[in-house]
Amino acid sequence: MPSEFIDALPILETIEKAGYEAYFVGGSVRDTMLSKPIHDVDIATSAYPEEIKKIFKRTVDTGIEHGTVMILDHGTGYETTTFRTESTYTDFRRPDEVKFVRSLDEDLKRRDFTVNALALTKDGEVIDLFGGVQDMSAQVLRAVGKPEERFHEDALRMMRAVRFAAQLDFKIDDATQKAIAENAPLLANIAVERTNVEFTKLMQGTSASYGLIEMIKSGLVNFMPGLANTDQDLAAYAELLQNAQPTDDNQAWSLLSFELGLSPKDTGEFLKLWKQPNDMIQTAKSVITLMNKLRLGDVSDWDLYQTQDAITTALATIRLSEVTANVEDLSVRYQALPIKHKKELAINGGELMKNLHLTPGPLFGKILADLEHLVVIGEQVNDKAALLQAAADIVEKEKK
Ligand code: ATP
Ligand code: MG
Repeated sequence: MPSEFIDALPILETIEKAGYEAYFVGGSVRDTMLSKPIHDVDIATSAYPEEIKKIFKRTVDTGIEHGTVMILDHGTGYETTTFRTESTYTDFRRPDEVKFVRSLDEDLKRRDFTVNALALTKDGEVIDLFGGVQDMSAQVLRAVGKPEERFHEDALRMMRAVRFAAQLDFKIDDATQKAIAENAPLLANIAVERTNVEFTKLMQGTSASYGLIEMIKSGLVNFMPGLANTDQDLAAYAELLQNAQPTDDNQAWSLLSFELGLSPKDTGEFLKLWKQPNDMIQTAKSVITLMNKLRLGDVSDWDLYQTQDAITTALATIRLSEVTANVEDLSVRYQALPIKHKKELAINGGELMKNLHLTPGPLFGKILADLEHLVVIGEQVNDKAALLQAAADIVEKEKK
């Protein structure tokens, strides 16, 4: 048992002592059995949320309407969820009601895939009702129960299928795969935020290429923002992912935007459709700007400078892409830039105005921009007196 489980054993013991059942469930059980590192330990219990709160002094209601209470124990939080069933799905997404039950079997039945439907007792015994252990050794991702019913209940599960296949390097079982292809349009009912989580994880999976090809083949991509009719570009991206693995969200989405052949502006629109955070949008636009220039030839120091904080993502994404460039050289050139930010100029706006008796306005803006450019490209040393002199020269020139 990994230390994360051992640390959490007192929680299971305390719940059992109070007369209820408690198990480790979900991804942490799966990942342990696959000898992968685990992140969060999830606990399922027959105790109702109110009962959990009576047993433990320190709890937080993190999702009490779904039965989830976080138990705080020596600085660690354990999400504990009451066994539940979900019933009457009318909109292909969330259940209309969540019913708490006392039976583990009922709870495991509502889980998405056999390898995600395992429970582990405090004694290390695995409870496997749907052949998850066998599927794990055969590296097969299979829906629990009838796949089309399960995808009708919650269409996000189709995305989760391709995501887990990509992450775990599993093949999707035939019946599950067929049901995805037949029900792909249901994905249109799912909030983009939820699809985004799965797709983002997929792109960073060890078998991202396989997952993406499954998304294309099944038609799932046609029901995702901005990806309808992009099969060829996506296939090229999938090919790239065979030998390259983005290691963060910004890289994954920048590379995708590049493979889709988007301009910086269209990249912004595309990522907005996906409700990406603003800093990712800004980063990706800078990355695409640099990559598009690089595709056409060499880039200038000014181009590198303008990439600003996106430079790390840009260099990583270039490495992953098919663009031929000496990334080492680009990195060295970037590091050698005289300044990396406007604020590193040896003179600031206030000093400039005072010394040259300028007022804010177009001329002042132009002077600052010119100085910045000259310093970056190495035509002007970054020294206060020299910059003041250069600024005075610009003023003279503008007067003429
Ligand atoms: P990860 O390592 O990415 O967190 P995970 O398996 O823990 O993988 P979660 O999304 O954290 O995935 O969900 C925890 C568990 O809850 C899953 O293992 C699965 O049993 C169940 N589950 C989550 N989402 C769904 C869903 N949409 N339908 C059915 N069961 C689900
Ligand atoms: Mg999890």
